[in-house]
Amino acid sequence: MRNPSQWMVCCALTLTLVGCTTSEQPATNEPVEEPVVTEEPTAPEEAPESTDDASDTPEPEVAEEPTTEEEPATETPEDSASVEEAPPVELVPKEPLETEGQANLALGTLILVNKQIALPSNYKPQDLVTPNIAFVDSATGDRRMLRQEAATGIEGLMAAAKSAGIDLKGTSAFRSYDYQVQLFNAYVARDGKEQAMKYSAPPGHSEHQTGLAIDVSSASVGYQLTQGLEQTKEGKWLADNAHKYGFIVRYQRAFEDETGYMYEPWHLRYIGVEHATNVKQMNVPFEQYLKQLMD
Ligand SMILES: [Zn+2]
Repeated sequence: MRNPSQWMVCCALTLTLVGCTTSEQPATNEPVEEPVVTEEPTAPEEAPESTDDASDTPEPEVAEEPTTEEEPATETPEDSASVEEAPPVELVPKEPLETEGQANLALGTLILVNKQIALPSNYKPQDLVTPNIAFVDSATGDRRMLRQEAATGIEGLMAAAKSAGIDLKGTSAFRSYDYQVQLFNAYVARDGKEQAMKYSAPPGHSEHQTGLAIDVSSASVGYQLTQGLEQTKEGKWLADNAHKYGFIVRYQRAFEDETGYMYEPWHLRYIGVEHATNVKQMNVPFEQYLKQLMD
C-alpha cells in the first residue's frame, strides 16, 4: 500500500490520464472531471479502440480492479424512477441563475455551476450520503457521496443498468472545494496554468462540489474517464436512459463551445427526472434550458 500522500498524487495524476489527447482541448475534467493526462500515459493496455481523438486514453492505473465489495444496489424497483411516474414538475420560481458570478443556491437541484459561475469556497451540501452502488476502488470517502436525492437517483440508474446487463461503476462523485484546490494546483504545477485551465478549472467551479454530479465508467474502458465510453454499449445505455433517473450527460459534444468543456460521456449531473427528460428532449445545454425555464 502506498502512503496516503503518494496515493493522492497517484490518484490525481491517474485520473488525469483519462480523456483526450492533447490535440484538442485536453479533457476538461477537473471542475468537471478529473483531468486528462495527455502525456505520460501510464500504460496503454488493451485500450478499447476508441475512434475519437480523445481516445488515446492513457490508462490510469487506478481503476483496474474490477472487483469491489459493494454490490450495485438492487433494491430500487425499476419503475420507481420511470418517467411516467415522475412527480409533477415543480417549476422553480423565477430565480436568477447567478449573482455576480456566484451560483444561486436557492435553485436547489437546478443549481448552475460552470466556468463563469462559482460556488462559495465553504459550500458543502448538508445532505450528502453514500449511495449504495459499486464504485471503483480509487473512489474513497466523501468522493463517493451525493446529495440524498441524487443518491437515490443513481441507485435507481445502477439497478436498472444491472438488470439490463450494463456494467457501470461510480468513479467520482462529491468533490470538496479543498480537494479541488489540491487537484487544480497539481495540474498547474505540472502543466502550467494556461494549459491546466483547458482541462481543469479553479476551485469553486467544479460541478462535483454541488454533490449532484457523478462520473461513471465501465469495465469495457477499464473504468476510465474516456470519450471511448461513447462507443460502448454502456455509454450508449447511459445516453439513452440516464434521464429516466434524473440525470443528464451534462457535457455533450455538440455543446462544447457553450459549456467550455469537451464531451464527457461519463459525467452525469442530477437535475430530477422531469427536467432531465426535458433537457434530453430539447437537446440543449443545461445553461440554455435554465434560461428558458426562468424566462
Ligand atoms: Zn465529472
